[in-house]
Amino acid sequence: MSANKDRLALIELLSSIGGEHSEDLRETLDRVAAAIATGMEAEVCSLYLFDPQRERIVLRATVGLDRESVGKVSMRLNEGLVGLVLEKDEPVCVPDAISHPRYKYFPETGEERFHTFLGVPVHDHDGRKKPLGVLVAQTLERRKFNKSEIRLLNTAANQVAQILSHFRLRESLATKEKERLEYRRRMIEANRQLKDYEKVGGKTRHAPPAKIRRPRLPGLSASPGFAQGSAHIVGAFLSSVDRNQKSRDPKAELKRFEDALARSLAELATLRVRMEPLMPEADLKIFDGHRMILEDEEFVGRIRDTIANGYAAESALFRVIEELSTSMLAVADNYLRERATDFRDVGHRLLRHLRQEEKRAPFTKPTIIVAEELTLSQLMLASHDKLTGIALQSGGVTSHAAILARAFEIPTVVGVEHLMESVVEGDQLVLDGNSGVVYVNPGAEIERDYVSLSKRYEAFKRELIEEGNAPTATRDGHRVMMLANIALLADIQMALRYGAEGVGLLRSEFSFLTYEDFPDETQQVALYGKMLEMLGKRPITIRTLDIGADKYPAYMRVPREDNPFLGWRSIRISLEMPGLFKVQLRAILRAAAKHDVRIMFPMISSLEELRRAKELLAESQAELFKEGLEHNPNIEVGIMVEVPSAVWLAPRLAREVDFFSIGTNDLIQYLLAADRNNRKVAHLYEALHPAVISAIAEVVNVARAADKEVCLCGEMASDPLATLLLVGMGLDELSLSPLFIPVVRKVIREVDYQTARLIARETLQMASVQEIKGYLVERYRDLGLINLVEMYR
Ligand code: PEP
Ligand code: MG
Repeated sequence: MSANKDRLALIELLSSIGGEHSEDLRETLDRVAAAIATGMEAEVCSLYLFDPQRERIVLRATVGLDRESVGKVSMRLNEGLVGLVLEKDEPVCVPDAISHPRYKYFPETGEERFHTFLGVPVHDHDGRKKPLGVLVAQTLERRKFNKSEIRLLNTAANQVAQILSHFRLRESLATKEKERLEYRRRMIEANRQLKDYEKVGGKTRHAPPAKIRRPRLPGLSASPGFAQGSAHIVGAFLSSVDRNQKSRDPKAELKRFEDALARSLAELATLRVRMEPLMPEADLKIFDGHRMILEDEEFVGRIRDTIANGYAAESALFRVIEELSTSMLAVADNYLRERATDFRDVGHRLLRHLRQEEKRAPFTKPTIIVAEELTLSQLMLASHDKLTGIALQSGGVTSHAAILARAFEIPTVVGVEHLMESVVEGDQLVLDGNSGVVYVNPGAEIERDYVSLSKRYEAFKRELIEEGNAPTATRDGHRVMMLANIALLADIQMALRYGAEGVGLLRSEFSFLTYEDFPDETQQVALYGKMLEMLGKRPITIRTLDIGADKYPAYMRVPREDNPFLGWRSIRISLEMPGLFKVQLRAILRAAAKHDVRIMFPMISSLEELRRAKELLAESQAELFKEGLEHNPNIEVGIMVEVPSAVWLAPRLAREVDFFSIGTNDLIQYLLAADRNNRKVAHLYEALHPAVISAIAEVVNVARAADKEVCLCGEMASDPLATLLLVGMGLDELSLSPLFIPVVRKVIREVDYQTARLIARETLQMASVQEIKGYLVERYRDLGLINLVEMYR
């Protein structure tokens, strides 16, 4: 094929496949096979899909072979030319198939007439998994397929994968919806029975039916505190829309849509202004991105057309978003996948306005928002007085919504499985943001317990905060610096409110995750500048990028790794991408021109790594100097000690740095060989393990002997039960999540330094976690501090 003809064939083929969707998968695949056969000028086109349950490859669609054999012909993975394609995971082209040793003849297909075989794997859209199946073209004539024909069939295979994923998505939505309805039906029935049971006193007349359980829904604590209130479901979620709902009056529907569109645009503009002080410029761009989608003629035009074709506005919206996001999700491109999320977010906003949710009466009683996920804009409801808590089915502790909830101090639990099925509007909820649990209609007893727990917690918090921000010191005046771990700009406000004396760990990668591409030097200087401005004269330690493992920006190509935590992460990435790394180093040096900024390298495991990082830092300094750009030429340099080799090398590393910061989160996982994110080994992941404690003691001693500063910035620093041990070991800088500063500060203020020293000395003699924990609990009890610990554990 000539290049032009080639391109034409491709365009024709793709556009004919694009229009082949119907409601029925089998019919769609048959039509697609026919289109491909025509485009490829082949007599046969067949699709074989792998059935993981049967471990066989099954013929699912064909033109050219006997259609009766569809669903019947199947083979094992190591059989036939089709099996060979799957095995090799690459195109297989055989001009004379019958004489190939892997040829397997299926008389029911009637394929003996076809000589040439070309098979290409059909990959799932993320392109990383094993192929889903094989797309085959066969011809009567013996011939060789050329490169562009193979490319053409490959492209067609991608289209087929998209169609399959579209159907799978629909199927899974339908199944989920069914499961959701069934679960909800059972919960409503259980609640009804429970109420009946309570009506008769819950005493002797009936025992509660066995299947009734008062739902206790565990999740993850995203923002601490206790909340009680009635459930308000926020969820103008597209999945709740009937995609087939027709309208009798398209004109009226169109008007409804135009109104919703106008209100959505106005809302975005207001939100942007309101969020400006809380978010860096780069994050604010999300609002601009959403506005651009709403102003996009193609997008809006498609919705208008679908309404004109007789669909209700909600259904039209659903259909267009579904279509767009399916095709975007189907490509192995992270950028487009992120855009799919933006389209869905915009869809949710439009839907909310179509349903006029914003006109609902404001909350009149204490309310807990319950949602599958919460967008930033929905969280703006948070300014409402009566909003006491947030429970989310999805979302991680580090999602934007969770971060803002913490900044607003709204008790929040995220990642609550079955939340949406278990809760109906108006249910009474108790939310425990400290332990990360939601109780649904828990009954008077639990509610009473929580009221008193909540009162105690609030009084305690008030008291701690009121104790003021005077420097933290033991009773006899031994000073301990209380610094904050922060991720985003919004965290700084909270850090200051809770009395942080500065920032001991800025996890710079979190801001990077929110950009659309690696932020350039100017963007980074602006970001750090905004943070420094908020911190005033307080010091900050900026950690260079610690991406990898569980933190990859969407715009980065991610290699698949069997052991990502032992793989390409953190400083290893930075050193391999010196261009990008130097952009960050230069930005930090520039931001440090007039502020108290230290720089810290994560995950250092050897002297070579440290030296190379320092070399790049020196190069960056020299460049800035040459360019006449203001910067700090004497910035203090430190490393995270979070890999066991760094503990062993501490005496040598200490000679080449200004400070250490002990990262227990990683140090524990590497020392104890227990993945920090794996629930199954959570019981093995233990900060109070004797090996962890002696590693910390070792690093502190080395730092002190070398007269270098040493800080501890892992989560262990927020555990009040560990505080006296850490202080007693000689740690006089702790960097922790701001919320825990008041309680840790309180513990320190209640004891003499000698007591802490003694506790550390004795603990270091112990050989088991149990012994250490038991000892600490006893000592805290003697010191009258155990209630502080229990409040947070
Ligand atoms: C640590 O590992 O202890 C640490 C503070 O870093 P992170 O949690 O960001 O890996
Ligand atoms: Mg770490």
